[in-house]
Amino acid sequence: TSVESPQRITLLGATGSIGQSTLDVLARHPSRYRVYALTAHRKVDALAALCQTWQPEVAVVATASDAQRLQELLRDGAAATTVRYGAQALADVAAAPAVDTVMAAIVGAAGLLPTLAAVRAGKRVLLANKEALVMSGAIFMEAVAEHGATLLPIDSEHNAIFQCLPNGTPVSLTATGIDSLVLTASGGPFLQASAAELAAVTPAQAVKHPNWSMGQKISVDSATLMNKGLELIEACWLFSATPDQVEVVVHPQSVIHSMVRYADGSVLAQMGQPDMRTPIAHALAWPERISSGVAALDFTRMGSLSFEAPDSTRFPCLRLAREAICAGGTWPCVLNAANEVAVAAFLAGELSFQGIAEVIEAVMQQMPVRPASELATILSADQEARACATRYIAAQSALASD
Ligand code: NAD
Ligand code: MG
Repeated sequence: TSVESPQRITLLGATGSIGQSTLDVLARHPSRYRVYALTAHRKVDALAALCQTWQPEVAVVATASDAQRLQELLRDGAAATTVRYGAQALADVAAAPAVDTVMAAIVGAAGLLPTLAAVRAGKRVLLANKEALVMSGAIFMEAVAEHGATLLPIDSEHNAIFQCLPNGTPVSLTATGIDSLVLTASGGPFLQASAAELAAVTPAQAVKHPNWSMGQKISVDSATLMNKGLELIEACWLFSATPDQVEVVVHPQSVIHSMVRYADGSVLAQMGQPDMRTPIAHALAWPERISSGVAALDFTRMGSLSFEAPDSTRFPCLRLAREAICAGGTWPCVLNAANEVAVAAFLAGELSFQGIAEVIEAVMQQMPVRPASELATILSADQEARACATRYIAAQSALASD
């Protein structure tokens, strides 16, 4: 093969759904890839098992006591792995000189600093952690340009769009003859639910996605359509698109992963099974192609493909995300932070399903739009929005129990 020395990889969020799919692809190409570091938050046992298999140079967990436990678990099977913990360790393994490629697959705002560290070290960055880009879009993309990082989208929609663009990402969509980007949305598990049914949705129902198997937070985001809202913002930054150049269409079968509409009337689509190993393998090997373990699409068994407009009355989160990116500045960060707090409260049984959008809208109304050209401004907007969301939820539940 053309590959002489293996690409060395840091996998941020190794114990998650994307982490697992990434390791599945890497295992199919042992001469092409080597794991440098694996990270996890609290799943120490799961990370220990991965370290036994992959023998990384470094493993990172959240706390000192987790690190101590991991060290003990590794004493026999992976004694050569250095165990570290905390935010600095995450940034270090993302930026380490020995690393070529970083898979950013931590969920939520916790992924921002390590992902930025990888970008600033000029790595090839495979971006699953959309929240990082939503929070910090302008400075994130400036850092990509300034440090010569290679940014490749893992989110299936953005990976699809990337594949439908001519030669990677254009500087200007219109100058490239592109009219718009079309994000497809499955519509989530409650596509057909009435407003009354939505009011009674439980966390267990919300995390059961019809087409994709994913982590809890993104599964709830898919059910509220906030996932598509975050993806709209993500698309604007990744592809230098204005919000009105990004369309959203509901396509419940999740066969078309997204599309690009050209000035001459052509629409290019990327299709495949709803399996994240396809975009992961694409980004790992780009511009080459490798096998991913994903089954072939069988057109004769697929049935019909359907499309409809999203309903922003039952699913206001998509509208809120559009408002946030149109306002710009710190608002996408505020939207994301309020959503993270609201989703956690919903999963804990402290907030109704429709309460998620209410919390986000209330927090946005209380938080001013500030210019987001400094990382410090973004981090403080994130903290303020979280505090604001927490207060709002507490006040609502105090009212309800009166
Ligand atoms: P997940 O919950 O399954 O895994 C999250 C990973 O992040 C775990 O390894 C966890 O240990 C780690 N983590 C969580 N909190 C952390 C913290 N505070 N500090 C450090 N590490 C932490 O999530 P997932 O479904 O794999 O999603 C990961 C990211 O990829 C998300 O941003 C999600 O939006 C995006 N994404 C996922 C899918 C999918 O199919 N799962 C598809 C597209 C995009
Ligand atoms: Mg997606």
